[in-house]
Amino acid sequence: MLKWFWRYLASGEELWARVIKSVYGDLEWGEDGQCRLRMRGGMTGWWSKIVDKGRGGENDRWFSENISRELGNGLGIRFWDEVWTGNRPLKFLFPRLFALSSDQQGLVGEFGNWAGEEWNWEFRWRRDLREREIEMVNNLLLVISSLAPCAGKKDGWKWKAAKDGVFSAKSAYEAISKEKGEMASKHHEGLAQVWEAPTPHKATVVAWRSLRNRLATCDNLVRRNVPIQVEEKWCNACVGHEETVEHLFIHCPKTDQVWDYIQQWLNIKTAKPQGLSQHFLSFTHGGKGKKIRNFLKALWVGTIWLLWSSRNESRFEGKEWDPQKLVLEIKGRIWSWNKTFQMVEVNVPFSLWCSREYTLPFL
Ligand SMILES: [Zn+2]
Repeated sequence: MLKWFWRYLASGEELWARVIKSVYGDLEWGEDGQCRLRMRGGMTGWWSKIVDKGRGGENDRWFSENISRELGNGLGIRFWDEVWTGNRPLKFLFPRLFALSSDQQGLVGEFGNWAGEEWNWEFRWRRDLREREIEMVNNLLLVISSLAPCAGKKDGWKWKAAKDGVFSAKSAYEAISKEKGEMASKHHEGLAQVWEAPTPHKATVVAWRSLRNRLATCDNLVRRNVPIQVEEKWCNACVGHEETVEHLFIHCPKTDQVWDYIQQWLNIKTAKPQGLSQHFLSFTHGGKGKKIRNFLKALWVGTIWLLWSSRNESRFEGKEWDPQKLVLEIKGRIWSWNKTFQMVEVNVPFSLWCSREYTLPFL
């Protein structure tokens, strides 16, 4: 389908392209320098798929980010509206001049004249320009002075992802992969927020390693060929589950109780994500304001840290794994971290803070 859309762009004069244009609308450049199809009326059939690609929806940004106009005779590109130099339409770069222009819809080729071999840019304004505005025109000329229409050549489209400017499946695939990589690193960035939590370093390290699946859980030991007894690979808080990061920190029935208590305390009820990184992101993104988000991060880090400690105590020292006791311990830690790092204002005594009936008022 992308090929069709590309052909639509690249062959502006073809009959079927004109049909699309007249039925569905025209191309429009956004302030972000991306190109979308402006809609007119409803759509049906395979046309809609082409047009959808061109609209620059979230998933198709890689397409609109990779196309730009290529200046020919300048009679097919709107001077102010389209991206034909730089990364954004000139009307967004020079909004004041755009407002003053008497050719807001004018084509590039209408903004000047040939003097022999040389192209001179010319503008028409609604009124005489003031000194500051003349300065702006000089800046505008700096932007476009290296460019000139090319008589006898039609304006075209350029596919920026390929060196030769022509769309191909291979270059499109590379553009998509690149965007996927960027998204992956954005995800990584989201997780790195765990370091913003105002918590002791040792706790943050455990939380970070849990998010990266770098803790010595039994499944990880097995993966690294550490010899462990068969009976050791099971979670020792419940029966019959392999010990993985997800099980230990989200799905184990005992852990589940811990999160339930914490949600009650916060007076929120959210669905439980499958993976730990989603758990972290959804748990911490809800708070209003930086201080509350920091509080939530600290609470998440503290919970993971203490879950891990009690797992170790239970595994290596035979201590009992008690969700209620653990929640009290978490509340106690958060109380003292909050005193130290002053995340949220607390006007209640410690005993109330710890009681099951109390819910935090600021969420
Ligand atoms: Zn378990």
